[in-house]
Amino acid sequence: MSGKSIGLSDELHEYLLSVSLRESAVMAELREETAEHPKSQMQIAPEQAQFLRFLVQLIGARRTLEIGVFTGYSAMAVAEVLPPNGEVVACDISEEYTQVARRYWQKAGVDDTIDLRIAPAAETLQALLDDGQAGTFDFSFIDADKKTYDTYYERSLDLLRPGGVIALDNVFRDGRVTGSRSDDESVRAIQELNEKLHEDDRVEITMLPLADGVTLAMKR
Ligand code: SAM
Ligand code: CA
Repeated sequence: MSGKSIGLSDELHEYLLSVSLRESAVMAELREETAEHPKSQMQIAPEQAQFLRFLVQLIGARRTLEIGVFTGYSAMAVAEVLPPNGEVVACDISEEYTQVARRYWQKAGVDDTIDLRIAPAAETLQALLDDGQAGTFDFSFIDADKKTYDTYYERSLDLLRPGGVIALDNVFRDGRVTGSRSDDESVRAIQELNEKLHEDDRVEITMLPLADGVTLAMKR
C-alpha cells in the first residue's frame, strides 16, 4: 500500500489507455492530425479529455467555458456530451489554430454547440459578465496563457453558479512548480495561483496528478 500516487511508467500508461480510453472516431482523427502540428504538445491527453467529459456529465453541466481552444480537442470532448440545449463558449486568439477546430467540430456535428470567440479570453469573459451572465455557467476549463490564469480563474468564478466546477490545466508545469519562486513568469504565475487556491475559501479544491496536473475548484 502506498500513500502517494503511483509513478506512471510508459507501460502502465499504455495499459491505462488500452483498458479505459473511449474516443469517438472524429476525436481520434483530430488527435492524429494535431500530432503532425509543431505545437502538438499543447493538446490535452486523451484520458484527460475523457475525464473532463465524465466530470461535465457528473455535474449536469449545460453551459461551459473553454479558455484556450487550439485545434479544438478538449472543446469537442465536452460539447459531445452536453444536453441538446448545451453550449460551450470557446475562447482563443488564433484564427489559424481554430480553423482546424472548426473543421472537426463540423465533422462531429457539434459546431452549433460551440460559440467560438476570437479575442483575448479575458475580454470575452468580461463581456459575458457585462452582459449580465454571472452565475449562469456550470463548468470552465482553463488552458490558455499561464500568466493570465488568475484572471481566468476570477472571471470564471464570477460566471459559475454555486456547485459549478473550474478545471485548471498544467498546474505542475512539467514539475517546475516545486522549490522556490521560478524566474520564468509563466511558472511563477502558476506557483502563486496554486498557493492562492490552497487558501481560497470560496471553493472546494482537489489537485489531481493527471497528465501535467489538473486542479478542480468547485464554487461554494
Ligand atoms: N485545450 C486545448 C486542447 O485540448 O487542444 C489546448 C489549448 S493550448 C494549450 C493554448 C491556447 O491558448 C492556444 O490555442 C492559444 O492560441 C490560446 N491563447 C493564448 N493566449 C490567449 C489569450 N490571451 N486569450 C485566448 N486564448 C489564448
Ligand atoms: Ca494544457
